[in-house]
Amino acid sequence: MKTLENKAVLVTGGSRGIGAAIVKRLANEGADVAFTYVAGKEQADALVKEIETLGRKAVAIQADSANAESVIAAVETTAARLGKIDILVNNAGVAVMGPLDQFSLEDYNKTFDINVRAVFVAIKAAVKHMASGGRIINIGSTNATRMPFEGGSVYAASKAAVQGLTMALSRDLGPQGITINNLQPGPVNTDMNPDNGPFADLLRTQLPIGRYGEASEVASFVAYLAGPEAGYITGASLNIDGGFMG
Ligand code: NDP
Repeated sequence: MKTLENKAVLVTGGSRGIGAAIVKRLANEGADVAFTYVAGKEQADALVKEIETLGRKAVAIQADSANAESVIAAVETTAARLGKIDILVNNAGVAVMGPLDQFSLEDYNKTFDINVRAVFVAIKAAVKHMASGGRIINIGSTNATRMPFEGGSVYAASKAAVQGLTMALSRDLGPQGITINNLQPGPVNTDMNPDNGPFADLLRTQLPIGRYGEASEVASFVAYLAGPEAGYITGASLNIDGGFMG
């Protein structure tokens, strides 16, 4: 039997990048997977087809994490279509970078609405559908505590908030048998942070491993945290970063 056989999963921001790798990996472990996206309908539909070829259910839900009602609706749709929620992966995130004197309040609010508020809202809605053994995995960032260049303060602050939320919610959720952890990637090759992008050469100098991570490597760690062997890990912020934090 596969480690996540018949588990029901919701991954936010699952059409591309790290989220899509998580969707594929968890489905390969035997789970049925719902995921949200905003604009990438074609990619989302293609991913649904790919998951269905594995013999698993896949549900693509258009839901902007900037909108709290949409996040709640995505959780309810997942519970209705998959019958329950065993695993919630809060992956959707935005990285708006810019100089302090030009950074708008609009971008500040957008960053916190998507990277922090949506995480809280999804957790609050999803735990109503979770039984003991449930798993919540947030995708934070090593930038919560290490930002190697200027312009990233608001992104860093949002990911630091995810650390705090995760640590403290472990107290609320532990008695229900639900674990919650915050996985903090270092640089990972995606559209958000391509390994040939403007930050890539600088970031590689900060990486003892000497390369960007792959989305599949993050997904592998998520699969472990989502599985039955990770039941004694909760409230933790765990790095997967090629040594970036050293
Ligand atoms: P990408 O930008 O490559 O992909 C983002 C995914 O999230 C897409 O599926 C996108 O959907 C979806 N998405 C974007 N905005 C929203 C929104 N408002 N509501 C719902 N879904 C949304 O990002 P990554 O895969 O690189 O990042 C995933 C997570 O990992 C983020 O939380 C990020 O902060 C974190 N992270 C990334 C690192 C990296 O180096 N890449 C390092 C550390 C952390 P659509 O296709 O519709 O646009």
